[in-house]
Amino acid sequence: MAVVLEVRDLIKSYGDLVAVNGISFVVQQGQCFGLLGPNGAGKTTTMEMLEGLVSADSGDILYQGRIAKRSDFQQLGVQFQQTALQDFLTVRETLQLFAAFYEEPADIEELIQLCDLSDFLTQDHRKLSGGQRQRLLLALALVNQPKILFLDEPTTGLDPHARRNFWQLIAKIKQQGRTIILTTHYMDEAEFLCDEIVIMAKGQIIARNSPQALLAEHFSGALIRLPDRGMQPQLPAAQWHMSNGFLHINSQDVEASIRQLLNEGFSLEGLYIKSANLDDLFLKLTGQSLSEVGEVA
Ligand code: ATP
Repeated sequence: MAVVLEVRDLIKSYGDLVAVNGISFVVQQGQCFGLLGPNGAGKTTTMEMLEGLVSADSGDILYQGRIAKRSDFQQLGVQFQQTALQDFLTVRETLQLFAAFYEEPADIEELIQLCDLSDFLTQDHRKLSGGQRQRLLLALALVNQPKILFLDEPTTGLDPHARRNFWQLIAKIKQQGRTIILTTHYMDEAEFLCDEIVIMAKGQIIARNSPQALLAEHFSGALIRLPDRGMQPQLPAAQWHMSNGFLHINSQDVEASIRQLLNEGFSLEGLYIKSANLDDLFLKLTGQSLSEVGEVA
């Protein structure tokens, strides 16, 4: 696979605050690449530099192997968290207006079909539901036929049904061979959509790989969780940690672990056993649950 984007040692400070502190990564053609991290980790600043909206203090951004130029940024598709649209326009008129900005816009009818907009084409865009508005914003981000699509928390605030609809749509766009770079606070979204993720904290990358490889790298066996009752298990420190009012144990042998806990006098009241997912990884690496990070219901 060809590398479409390479980031080398990117640094950006705001006054004394180092928002992005020396990050490097590559994105392959056709990948869905996820940026995850707690609030203030530097995800949006990174996206803004990649989109050419904010200039880096140092480091390089390369598109297709060349240092990024203004013309590269113009060929990107960007769906922002908030986009101001012209008032009093219908959905179709909004699409037509955006298409008029470009020399070679996408076919509007194809976009309408792809993003499932036909049921509300004549509606004023201010009257759309959250999910419909996100689909319109996605269509607008695709209007210049970008090879790389940036999505900044595209499903924040949507209900579960609308989120899943949106995922199907992203999967369709990915099948067209487009490269997608997205930030999200939802671990299930990252697990469903992303081929590769980086987890950022305090401006740095603390983990990078496919979701499956990261889980295999950091967990094996099952996770046991018990309410924190002030007791510590007689286990190697690498196998357990306390956070958010719970004792978490990474167990290779659930039965043996439960027996040991009982022998040590732990109560099994509130016991929870499951295999690890990205939220557990995030918690392990950042000390925060991904579901606590954003406006997740
Ligand atoms: P969130 O998940 O909350 O969107 P984030 O990971 O996207 O967070 P950034 O928005 O990139 O994080 O912010 C990184 C740090 O840089 C934060 O401490 C933020 O307050 C700071 N920051 C971002 N933009 C600016 C700015 N324009 N001026 C000053 N500080 C900024």
